Amino acid sequence: MTLSQAEIERYKKHLQLLHVGREGQERLKQASVLVVGAGGLGSPVLTYLTGAGVGHIGIIDSDRLTLSNLPRQVLHDTPSLDKRKVDSARARLSALNPEVVFDTHAERLTRTNAPELIRDRQVVVDCTDNLEARFLLNEVCASQGIPLVYGAVFEFEGQVSVFDARRGPCLRCMIPETPPPGSVPDPETHGLLNTVPGTIGMLQATEVLKLLLGVGEPLIGKLMLYDSLSVSLLQIHLFKRRDCPVCGKYFTPG
Ligand SMILES: [Zn+2]
Repeated sequence: MTLSQAEIERYKKHLQLLHVGREGQERLKQASVLVVGAGGLGSPVLTYLTGAGVGHIGIIDSDRLTLSNLPRQVLHDTPSLDKRKVDSARARLSALNPEVVFDTHAERLTRTNAPELIRDRQVVVDCTDNLEARFLLNEVCASQGIPLVYGAVFEFEGQVSVFDARRGPCLRCMIPETPPPGSVPDPETHGLLNTVPGTIGMLQATEVLKLLLGVGEPLIGKLMLYDSLSVSLLQIHLFKRRDCPVCGKYFTPG
């Protein structure tokens, strides 16, 4: 897939990078990525993947934009209040980069629609805010052998990882049991510093680009913990569980 003259000009700074160059930029153009959630995490992820020239981006989100979304969901704006987030996102992102093809889905991710939405993507990005959707994404991505770039935020903190069942642990290796109802904080009733999803989403977008380009060391088998108050970034190792019901079949000893 070759680049047009306009694209060569648009992606000039990428083309100057040894690790991207023309070949890498063409790889980005060929890629198809699904972003699940067009909210706080989805805003930076979608904006930067679109800017980077990822050729095909799927967006799924069933919500409409509310006033309290706006401080952190900077992909959207005040005139778009009450609109579907996928529509507002598509309008803004198409204006940012008309070279990108979008498929938008104003629906919730379910066991029925997930396999079809995820099929043929190179990477899936978890920008959801609940464990139920995360477990479902993890399961479907593992079964299709597609890497999942995970991000989560809470108050002043966030975390990022890459779950690739073929090469490392999955979300179920990290959280084996479904927590009892009420034990996981409800994002509806907890505060969140507006820049935290910005920081975490940027780290997720960078992991997506690294995976697509095949450069650097993706966060496979590592969980990056970010605390905005102490400005600390801490990496902890995650281990693949031999008995994991989701990815255990990919376990190779040694
Ligand atoms: Zn697992």
